[in-house]
Amino acid sequence: MTDSSNFSKFTIAIIGGTGKEGKGLAYRWAKAGHKIIIGSRAEEKATLAAAELVAILPGGCKVSGMENLKAAEAALPRSLSSGERAVIEQARDEFKRLMKIGCTGCGYCMPCPFGVDIPGCFAGYNAHYLFPHDRTGSFQYIGRHSGLMGQVSHAGLCRQCGKCAKVCPQHLPIPALMKQVSAEMDGLVIPVVVPLL
Ligand code: SF4
Ligand code: SF4
Repeated sequence: MTDSSNFSKFTIAIIGGTGKEGKGLAYRWAKAGHKIIIGSRAEEKATLAAAELVAILPGGCKVSGMENLKAAEAALPRSLSSGERAVIEQARDEFKRLMKIGCTGCGYCMPCPFGVDIPGCFAGYNAHYLFPHDRTGSFQYIGRHSGLMGQVSHAGLCRQCGKCAKVCPQHLPIPALMKQVSAEMDGLVIPVVVPLL
């Protein structure tokens, strides 16, 4: 990540950085003098985000946009020590063990024609397994999908049309996963909450 021409500054790649969080970090770090590369799956999206920031940053700030892999390469990878990599790998393995569905929340599958909040249901289901002791996932699922707050959008609404699975960049078998989520989550919470509405 260090820039060999100036050790007090860094070249920082923000992978998947075109959202408001990524752009917010990019703005602040660029203003502080670091060279920023915004990464995205689509290079045009990254360059557009970079151009937006350059337009509002003071002159001399360096922000560019690239496809994610190119951005990671440009920020000088392999700069972590073996100990740091071991910690990251340990955390990654534990996270993968606890995370049941590899949904990134990109939202490309939305909207569902039958009203399922697909990334939301997966997020609630994952939280159910990530935090099994405090029922965070169950409450998240009840709150967001039973209709208590906003629209009813639980996994049980899925009619297995398959529209979503055709566009999922993670190639998730969404209809089958919806059955799984519904069997485990709707059975616990929907019969309890929906009659109260
Ligand atoms: S398969 Fe289910 S979740 Fe996916 S779009 Fe169709 S109804 Fe919605
Ligand atoms: S398209 Fe796939 S990864 Fe993206 S939100 Fe939908 S299920 Fe998740």
